[in-house]
Amino acid sequence: MTKPLAVITGASSGIGEATAKIFSEAGYPTLLLARRIEIMESFKLKNSICKKVDVRDREALVAAVREAEAIYGPTDMMFNNAGVARLADISTQDPNEWDEMIDVNTKGVMNGIYAVMSDMKARKSGTIVNMSSIAGRKVYGDHTVYCGTKYFVHAISESIRGYLSPHNVRVIVMSPGNIEAEVLNGITDPNTLAAYKANIERIGGRISPEYVAKMILFAYEMPQNVIMQEVVVTPTKQDY
Ligand code: NDP
Repeated sequence: MTKPLAVITGASSGIGEATAKIFSEAGYPTLLLARRIEIMESFKLKNSICKKVDVRDREALVAAVREAEAIYGPTDMMFNNAGVARLADISTQDPNEWDEMIDVNTKGVMNGIYAVMSDMKARKSGTIVNMSSIAGRKVYGDHTVYCGTKYFVHAISESIRGYLSPHNVRVIVMSPGNIEAEVLNGITDPNTLAAYKANIERIGGRISPEYVAKMILFAYEMPQNVIMQEVVVTPTKQDY
């Protein structure tokens, strides 16, 4: 095995699926993590392990990473991508949806960082890619808690990037706009869903997750002393 291990959370659909496939096609062994294991297994990627892991379960996430590392060697690329977008009118939203977004989008990302950070620091090599959003750069009225979770990702990423940079470890933030994925399935508020769909229509549609995946691969394959600190990618016609 000449290429190092890439770990992708939320690899069963959307951006995570596209990233897992593109890294696999580029010859990297991969560890795919999500709850819908049957979907990930159906990809039949070469040199790949699929594990049914909820990113909120720190112990299970770490165990899966260690298991893959025992076969493929240390993780060199960790994509903390798993996330949920329960967009809604904040005054009527079930607070359980707030809890879910906070647990998956913030603590889940921290769990992924925890699984690889110390080893990357000791090895003086590695790349952590954290999934934020354009909603981690500006706020939207019906994205309240979602925006909060993505601002969190921006904040901790910038902090950890500074902390790990003397150790030659890169921390990259991905901030996409409207990307084709299952994200709409998570919106339970009908008015928010209708407004979201109308906006997608207005801007001429979303863009394929393959573009995001390609940008992650491009940033990762830059020499280790070069970092794209943040990648902001949206449909050209997305105006806010
Ligand atoms: P999808 O809904 O298609 O993918 C979400 C992925 O996250 C799935 O693989 C899902 O797998 C996984 N996931 C969700 N909850 C958990 C959990 N508790 N444990 C493990 N895996 C989990 O949407 P996207 O591809 O769009 O989402 C990926 C990331 O991109 C998210 O962080 C999202 O916030 C972010 N993003 C998306 C944008 C878009 O327009 N699509 C724009 C900006 C950011 P499973 O259900 O099998 O566990």
